[in-house]
Amino acid sequence: MSRVLVIGCGGVASVAIQKCCQADEVFTELCIASRTKEKCDALSRKLEGKTKTVITTAKVDADDVNQLIQLINSYKPDLVMNIALPYQDLTIMDACLACGVNYMDTANYEPEDTDDPEWRAIYEKRCKEAGFSAYFDYSWQWAYRKKFEEAGLTALLGCGFDPGVTQAYCAYALKHEFDQIDTIDILDCNGGDHGYAFATNFNPEINLREVSAPGSYWENGHWVEIPPMAIKREYDFDQVGDKDMYLLHHEEIESLAQTIPEVKRIRFFMTFGQSYLDHMRCLEDVGMLSTTPINYNGQEIVPIQFLKALLPDPASLGPRTKGKTNIGCIFTGVKDGQEKTYYIYNVCDHQECYKEVGSQAISYTTGVPAMCGALMMLTGKWIRPGVYTVEEFDPDPFLEALDKYGLPRSENHNPELVD
Ligand code: NDP
Repeated sequence: MSRVLVIGCGGVASVAIQKCCQADEVFTELCIASRTKEKCDALSRKLEGKTKTVITTAKVDADDVNQLIQLINSYKPDLVMNIALPYQDLTIMDACLACGVNYMDTANYEPEDTDDPEWRAIYEKRCKEAGFSAYFDYSWQWAYRKKFEEAGLTALLGCGFDPGVTQAYCAYALKHEFDQIDTIDILDCNGGDHGYAFATNFNPEINLREVSAPGSYWENGHWVEIPPMAIKREYDFDQVGDKDMYLLHHEEIESLAQTIPEVKRIRFFMTFGQSYLDHMRCLEDVGMLSTTPINYNGQEIVPIQFLKALLPDPASLGPRTKGKTNIGCIFTGVKDGQEKTYYIYNVCDHQECYKEVGSQAISYTTGVPAMCGALMMLTGKWIRPGVYTVEEFDPDPFLEALDKYGLPRSENHNPELVD
């Protein structure tokens, strides 16, 4: 028996909500609240008669802490699932603290306005000290650790697939497969084809910022930063085939470097087709990926937001996308004095996802872990006062839930390694 408030009703949230409704013995009451209430109402109608979960909807601007506090105090949830955008992480955490409610999200904080001088000063200091220049990092949310501890509340950060499941795979490898992990390569392959020359699989603003940023990896206790897309490898993915993949900075590297400090190297690779890269480079060259507003005919326009309005809505890609995703981690290390390798991954079929919940595999592979993370919290398995990332909790019940709710693991004890 639980009451859950979900904030956001986009691609990922709509999957997470539908999956929560499949576990209606735990998610007994759910309030879907977002900026555009009509989307919440439409999803609520879609679920009518299909679940015992009692669903209500609300309108909220999650940039406004007071509105959030009002909503949380009136609904009185056991948990707030933040599945809006990373821009809202801190306001929602503040509201949860003010109301005494547990918190979770799927992506770490980044500011909407990266030109804000106050934020920029802290960011530039961090770039110098830490050695990577991504706009997002854990420092903002880790700064809430003491507050959550003192309030006796749990905050679970980044519980999607990557970050999220990839960290649970690391915790699982450490618990069951290795005495010591030496290297981790996280491989994110999307072998899906939507038939458009260019489209992003989730929120274009967040996606394009991530991909156009410098790459970086963790090696021997420090960050190594490289120009965007400077390291390319080819990999033969199970059930997908050969794909080009590129080294990116990714948020879970930052937390894994702290929670598994003996690891010598952690890298993250994502596959991209040539058409995607050519379009992205061109858009970047002409300034369309900028977040700095320009004045056009007396109207202020943020180029990347304008681009978002032109691109296909990620939610509309579902019926068109065919093929599979394959996301997982390859480890090298030692067990019982012997060197060994291990690969744990999930393969997910875009069309199967569409048949089940009406969206493609990218939203599915993020929404299902969000629901499973919430399930861990609501059933008391992942409750501990403070602010935590996924690898800090027991991976076993979480991976069992993922197996059950649509993202089963596959394993390979003799995988091809990435050089
Ligand atoms: P969408 O853009 O599809 O949805 C975002 C939702 O948040 C929309 O419903 C939007 O409302 C709502 N929202 C935005 N701003 C506000 C606000 N100020 N107040 C209230 N609601 C707001 O994004 P996705 O579903 O693709 O992504 C959701 C999250 O998942 C993001 O944080 C993303 O970074 C993360 N993610 C994580 C992954 C992982 O593996 N860990 C992978 C993919 C995504 P409106 O409908 O009005 O626009």
